Amino acid sequence: MSDYILFEPSKHPLYEEYNQDYLYIFKENKLMVVKDNEKYHVPRRDTIDELNVDLINFQCIGAYDGHNCFCGEITDNINSNSIDFVDLRTYSKYVDEETYLLSSKALLLLNWLKSNQYCGRCGSKMERKEDGNDRAMVCPNCGNIVWPKTAPAIIVAVTKGDKLLLAHNRQFPEGMYSVLAGFVELGETFEQCVKREVFEETGIKVKNIKYFGSQPWPFPNSMMIGYTAEYLEGEIREDKDEIIHADWFSKEEIPGKYRQSISIGSRLIKWFLENH
Ligand SMILES: [Zn+2]
Repeated sequence: MSDYILFEPSKHPLYEEYNQDYLYIFKENKLMVVKDNEKYHVPRRDTIDELNVDLINFQCIGAYDGHNCFCGEITDNINSNSIDFVDLRTYSKYVDEETYLLSSKALLLLNWLKSNQYCGRCGSKMERKEDGNDRAMVCPNCGNIVWPKTAPAIIVAVTKGDKLLLAHNRQFPEGMYSVLAGFVELGETFEQCVKREVFEETGIKVKNIKYFGSQPWPFPNSMMIGYTAEYLEGEIREDKDEIIHADWFSKEEIPGKYRQSISIGSRLIKWFLENH
């Protein structure tokens, strides 16, 4: 372990100390947290042991800062004033990005484990791969192996001079706008996806597509790959299927139209506000 790489992925515990293990326990996709004034902490092993609850789909995810991390689920109700369950979007508002990413690793692995209980080829019950260091589900009947997967999606801030292209999606709360995003098709490059999504959703063509950053997004298993791009040509023509309204917004017109969070979409908008 080093300061350079704080999280070490592993399906086996890497450290001996037991009581200090971090346990990422979910109930119906909500994370168990210990409330401490206005702060949330992920419970340590000794706290969970005291609760005496049955953990299902329990697995080691690796170690963070020298402490083993596990994830699992419970179905029991918990009667404790200090324990709460929060969805990860809420949790993200109380913690830094690194801490948030740990919770998303845990939820991604749980979602993967739950979605691969049966073989997609022959329907037999799958088993966890025990040998080696790689994490996988194996079919004892036909040998099918399924590794954890993530679904890449692009998210892009398109600028035109001092304006930013934002869109209101059918599923958004009223008045909320975001940069454009969409899933990468099979056999498509990320850059092709940027061009296609922006054109399909708004009728705008773009140039100078540049990588911005990435963010795992465990709802349920995406990886957002962020880009910036510049307007090339075209008039806005919303697809009216997903995108109800799209427009070019100046810096002054944006505040209040987007939700501030640690999401990469929010970071792209902040990038525009700070650089234009
Ligand atoms: Zn099979």
